[in-house]
Amino acid sequence: MKIDLHLHTKPRSQCSYIDPADLIAEAKKIGLDGFCLTEHQVLWDKDAVRELAGESGLKIFRGNEITTAQGDVLVFGLEKDIQGIITIQELHQEVQAAGAYSILAHPFRGFKTFGVTDLQMSVDQAARKKALQYVDAVEIRNGKVSPQDNEMAQKVAEKLGLPGTGGSDAHNLDDIGTFITLFEQTIEDDRQLVEALRTGCFTVASGR
Ligand SMILES: [Zn+2]
Ligand SMILES: [Zn+2]
Repeated sequence: MKIDLHLHTKPRSQCSYIDPADLIAEAKKIGLDGFCLTEHQVLWDKDAVRELAGESGLKIFRGNEITTAQGDVLVFGLEKDIQGIITIQELHQEVQAAGAYSILAHPFRGFKTFGVTDLQMSVDQAARKKALQYVDAVEIRNGKVSPQDNEMAQKVAEKLGLPGTGGSDAHNLDDIGTFITLFEQTIEDDRQLVEALRTGCFTVASGR
């Protein structure tokens, strides 16, 4: 299944220009099987998602992008409403208690801009990023960061033996599906999405 695991719609994410209704049409047009709504700090309610999916045939999942003091984390299967900035350790505890799943989003966004070329972070140094100890997976393909940022995330994930996911992080309609996660099995609901993530049987791809 071709699933975009990371995207934002308006008005739940104020920074997004994507009307949820347009998202359905675009996702079908580019051939996605489904997507996961990951607004900032807001979880869609189940009825609204069911209504949005309508007769489209698309699988729509509910996630959340939570801001922690150590970076953004995509969470799946966590129903608890988390407001304000928490630490990644606190979020990790919530995720564990709920049997949820967490992915460190765009972990090295803009890392190149911070260093002089020959002082750039090595993969070994990058792998010491503390947040990586408190997540289940790493987003190794994010549609809003540079190829170098994604490459560093992939190398670090490989080094640490963490699974890697892909998502567009779309805020505009044209960006949907730039990167996706390919799952081997069919996924019907939010619980099955968490189970599928847990198996680690997925790869990343470009979705358009
Ligand atoms: Zn983010
Ligand atoms: Zn995002």
